[in-house]
Amino acid sequence: QKKPVTLLGLGAMGTALADAWLTAGHPVTVWNRNPRRAGPLAARGAAVAATAAEAVAAGRLVVLCLLDDDSVDEALAEADLTGRDLVNLTTGTPLRARDRAAWAQARGARFLDGGIMAVPPMIGVPESGGYVFYSGSSGAFEDHRDTLAVPAGTRYVGEDPGFAALHDVALLSAMYGAFSGITHAFALIRREDIDPEEFVPLLVDWLTAMVPAAHTTAARLNSGDHTTGVVSNLAMQVAGSATLVRTAEEQGVDTALLTPYLQLMERLLEEGGHDHEDTARVVDLLTR
Ligand code: NDP
Repeated sequence: QKKPVTLLGLGAMGTALADAWLTAGHPVTVWNRNPRRAGPLAARGAAVAATAAEAVAAGRLVVLCLLDDDSVDEALAEADLTGRDLVNLTTGTPLRARDRAAWAQARGARFLDGGIMAVPPMIGVPESGGYVFYSGSSGAFEDHRDTLAVPAGTRYVGEDPGFAALHDVALLSAMYGAFSGITHAFALIRREDIDPEEFVPLLVDWLTAMVPAAHTTAARLNSGDHTTGVVSNLAMQVAGSATLVRTAEEQGVDTALLTPYLQLMERLLEEGGHDHEDTARVVDLLTR
């Protein structure tokens, strides 16, 4: 007998999650504020609760996938959480997750926060590589890991309930950094007779070759040794970056996406003592 799952929230993501558990043969109880969204899942065998409190009462494992933190407050206001294991997959900040964990504990529940690294079409499709970060109660994670692994891979990142959200946001923030560089590169070639679709393999191959430099950054942050000597040191990179800015200006491209990182490198160099170090030092600059 597969374990029962209660799911609150049948938006695009919640519906995909419910679908995956139903497909795998789990008894599923669903609730959505607008009850019409539950129709197709009911037709596939889900039990539909009339209220969130009734859905929570249906079983131990309660998964939330709502819009935001306020909607979680609203949905759970009347529910008895005693003896429940809450898994909140609603996107939020680390601080909100820590507050939510304390709130859930005070109401007699164990708490796991989750950060979904997937879009709905990747849910229930193991080969898509989608997964969910979990943090909080390790007991709850161990008890439910097989059930949680049905819709997507699982990565437990620690007892601190804020860590799942922090990992999620760190990866998303890195993604936007990469997207801003990609956007600027396309802008540079935009006015020329260069086909973006012919240019893109060069762009992707270059980024793929450069991104593993993150391993070096991690090692430097751990060792505290930032010295690179003459290879790609800060002084050389700052000198070279003037060409990047001038080229953008020549091409008539706004430098808004380009300059923030370059300015941080310049600030370090102006401080002195960092000429022969590498860009891992920028992490220190951001966290002083
Ligand atoms: P949708 O906008 O599709 O669905 C939002 C859900 O929240 C609906 O079920 C809606 O109910 C419910 N809701 C909104 N306000 C309230 C409220 N005040 N009380 C009760 N229920 C409420 O969002 P998604 O399903 O796409 O996303 C859900 C969560 O998953 C979000 O936190 C999102 O950040 C996260 N996520 C989504 C991803 C995606 O690609 N979609 C990827 C990774 C994470 P109703 O139908 O009644 O309006």
